[in-house]
Amino acid sequence: MYIILLGAPGAGKGTQAVYVAQKLNLVHIATGDLFRQAIEQGTELGIQAKSYMEKGMLVPDKITIRMVLERMPVPDCESGVVFDGFPRNLEQARALDEALAKQTKAIDRVVYIKVSEEELLRRLSGRWICRNCQTPYHAIDSPPKIWGKCDQCGGELYQRPDDTDETVKKRLQVYFTQTAPLIDYYTRVGKLIEVNGEGGIDEVGRRIIVALRGVGRVASGEEGETR
Ligand code: AMP
Repeated sequence: MYIILLGAPGAGKGTQAVYVAQKLNLVHIATGDLFRQAIEQGTELGIQAKSYMEKGMLVPDKITIRMVLERMPVPDCESGVVFDGFPRNLEQARALDEALAKQTKAIDRVVYIKVSEEELLRRLSGRWICRNCQTPYHAIDSPPKIWGKCDQCGGELYQRPDDTDETVKKRLQVYFTQTAPLIDYYTRVGKLIEVNGEGGIDEVGRRIIVALRGVGRVASGEEGETR
């Protein structure tokens, strides 16, 4: 099964992708995480991506598409993938369709996690992330048990440099101009499912799993169980 989680920055794609991947036994491919890892490791890819990310802009398609396509043939992706933060424009969506078609595969569903702009801004300004395992926290909604430390692995929590006010505004603008047209693109091919992304993490997770019922292996019921 191949699923895309679509939504604005702060919609909860990362959190929900981890949940969906675990529930449905899919590989989680998050382009933002791949870029951040490359920056931490100081690789050529990281050097190329850094300046775009700092400004809240999209990393050029050529670099992004190559990175995703290099990740996909790894055998663990055979059973399916949940894409988080990719595709982010029509060019990337078409490249993904073509790459999957070459393997006689296709995107099964695109889950659009809808959240109001006011709520997006509130979430992004309180967001903290584990430097080690990328688990996200929110200063008010979902604080860690010990401030500054990840509940899962004890790693250090940090605020993403692109979660500052100015960069957040730019990222939202980029989302509305370049990524939001994908809602139409996937609606036209009958693959889009809209899910209300407001509410608790568990509540939204349950909505997503329920929305995916009837798709691929979720139809069998056992993976479709909610928490
Ligand atoms: P994210 O963690 O998904 O919010 O992504 C953080 C940043 O990484 C974005 O603001 C972009 O600069 C870059 N990025 C992530 N995914 C993509 C993508 N599919 N295309 C281009 N740039 C991306």
